[in-house]
Amino acid sequence: MIPFNKPYLTGKETQYIFEAVNTGHISGNGTFTKECHRFLKDSFGFKKVLLTTSCTDALEMAAMLINIQPGDEVIIPSYTFVSTALAFVRQGADIVFADSTPEHPNLDATKLESLINSKTKAIVPVHYAGVACDMDAIMELAHKHQLYVIEDAAQAIDSYYKGRPLGTIGHLSAFSFHETKNIQSGEGGFLGINDEKFIKRAEILWEKGTNRAEFFRGEVNKYGWVDTGSSFLPSDIIAAFLFAQLEHLHEIQNRRKEIWNQYFKSLKELETEGYFKLPVIPEYATNNAHMFYLLCNTADQRNQLLTFLKQHGVHAVFHYLSLHSSPFYSNKYRGNPLPNSDHFSDTLVRLPFYFELSEEHQLKVIHTIERFFRS
Ligand SMILES: *Cc1c(COP(=O)(O)O)cnc(C)c1O
Repeated sequence: MIPFNKPYLTGKETQYIFEAVNTGHISGNGTFTKECHRFLKDSFGFKKVLLTTSCTDALEMAAMLINIQPGDEVIIPSYTFVSTALAFVRQGADIVFADSTPEHPNLDATKLESLINSKTKAIVPVHYAGVACDMDAIMELAHKHQLYVIEDAAQAIDSYYKGRPLGTIGHLSAFSFHETKNIQSGEGGFLGINDEKFIKRAEILWEKGTNRAEFFRGEVNKYGWVDTGSSFLPSDIIAAFLFAQLEHLHEIQNRRKEIWNQYFKSLKELETEGYFKLPVIPEYATNNAHMFYLLCNTADQRNQLLTFLKQHGVHAVFHYLSLHSSPFYSNKYRGNPLPNSDHFSDTLVRLPFYFELSEEHQLKVIHTIERFFRS
């Protein structure tokens, strides 16, 4: 069976973990955590970076930092992972779901303004498949209505909007290093801070509501409980693993882009014949090759394709069930239908995609898809 995903190891992970253990200190904010912070800040230009144990944690920190209160409304796409909504729902927010664009699962910025009212506090664009949302349009609306923008950049490491790294455009952003992402540490993530006013409080929320970070920098002479928070920081063992991955960022991205381009080129002909649609990358966006997907014409065709691939040794998968239809939120959702979001839930197929996918296996995936549609 060709798996859907296989987490990549660069080979340095265990060496760095060994080094971390040998320092004698593997709690949070240690040597490797600082290395990762420096790498991410220098590579992409955040004002501040804080590693977390997940993107979910980083989103929770963002929700706390912008002081989401019960009754506040937060606009997010329905076609996304649970955490995008959950982090705000935990603070009492009401979720207002935005529909996707017709061409791409990203939220449709041209339809956003009708969702904004006096209770709206934030917009959370999700850069699906690492492809940028229309950030100029979103930032302009946010500025006009005085809203915060939190980028869910879980899939968007090393991807760009008009030359600007994703995650550096909104007030705050959240990234994931879950083992299904381009760069991984099993579980992991970080909060990107672009508005300096959040830096001091973010460090406090990160460290259980204490001013420990300031204390260790020698800025205060004792530390204590000063705010709310949680234990959001990962052990330095996770940071050691992560640093081994970050050092190979370019090599990883280049190989993934090769795989992506091979799929695109090889499946183009079937697309031209009308069997399915290939991903669209808007002119303002780059492709960080997070995933490769097809859009089938109908849900039935999609399900038959998944079954056929499985029978022939290829593990392909669908993706999100739109959150407005989820068991947890469907009875709370009072908004309009979201046809584009439903369409992506019904028709999207993700193909096997990982650094070590061999040419031979990729050709097998492509040929199996050809057989399905041509026979
Ligand atoms: C993976 C993912 C998350 C969650 O990331 P974790 O690190 O597992 O918490 C959130 N949002 C999106 C869009 C994702 O793809």
